[in-house]
Amino acid sequence: MRIDILTLFPEMCEAVLSESIVGRARRAGLVDIRTHQIRDYTEDKHGRVDDAPYGGGMGMIMQPQPIYDCFQALCAETGDRPKLIYLSPQGRPLTQEIVEARAKEPHLALLCGHYEGVDERVLEEIADEELSIGDYVLTGGELPALVLADALARMQPGVLSGDVCFTDESHFSGLLEYPQYTRPPEWRGRAVPEVLLSGHHANIDAWRKEQSLRRTEEKRPDLYEAYLREQKS
Ligand code: SAM
Repeated sequence: MRIDILTLFPEMCEAVLSESIVGRARRAGLVDIRTHQIRDYTEDKHGRVDDAPYGGGMGMIMQPQPIYDCFQALCAETGDRPKLIYLSPQGRPLTQEIVEARAKEPHLALLCGHYEGVDERVLEEIADEELSIGDYVLTGGELPALVLADALARMQPGVLSGDVCFTDESHFSGLLEYPQYTRPPEWRGRAVPEVLLSGHHANIDAWRKEQSLRRTEEKRPDLYEAYLREQKS
C-alpha cells in the first residue's frame, strides 16, 4: 500500500514514521509512506500558503492553490488518482472498521489542515472523504494523519508477525481484548491467573473470551450492547 501525506510539516511526520514498527515496515518495503511539503507548490513569491478568512474572524485559512497543485503533482508523478482523505474534526469518527476497509486501498492521500482550516473549495474539488480522530480540536492534521497511517500500516501483510496480532486485538471483533500478563508470575503480591500458566490452550481460549466479554461490558457498555445485537442478528 502507498500513503502520501500532504502537509506543511513533513519533518514532524517523518520523525514519527521513521520509528518503531512503521519505520521498519517502510524500510522493508512493506508499506510505502511519503510526505509532501504543500508550501513547495505555492505560487506566492514569499512562500505564503494561508490568508485571512473572508467575512472576518480569527486565524488564517490555508489557500486552495498550493494544496490543489501539490495533489495534482502527486497524481502526475504516480500516474493514478488516489482517494484523498481530509483529516478534520468535522469528519466521520475513525473506527477500526473504517481502517480495515481503507487498508485494502492500494493508494491513499491524506491531507493535513492547519491554522483555522482549509478553503472549502479545494475540499469540494479533491477530497473524497473526511475523517476525524475524535470530538476535540487539534492544531493541525498531522497527528490525525499519523494516527491513520499507523493504523493502516499495521494492517498490511508482513508488518506484524501474523494476522492474529490484529484479529485478536480490541475492536477487531467488536470486543475489547482480554487482560495480558508477562514475567514474572508474581509481582507485588499479584499473581498471574493460574489458567494462563496451565498450558491448556482450550481453557486459556475460554478464559480469554470470557474476560474479553466481561471487560467490554464494564469498560464500554456501548460496544457490548452492539456486540450482543450483532450476535442475535
Ligand atoms: N476551524 C476548524 C473547525 O472548527 O472545524 C478546525 C481547524 S483545526 C484548528 C486545524 C486542522 O487540524 C484541521 O484543518 C484538521 O486538518 C486538523 N484537525 C484538528 N482536529 C482534528 C480532529 N479531531 N480530527 C482530525 N483532524 C483534526
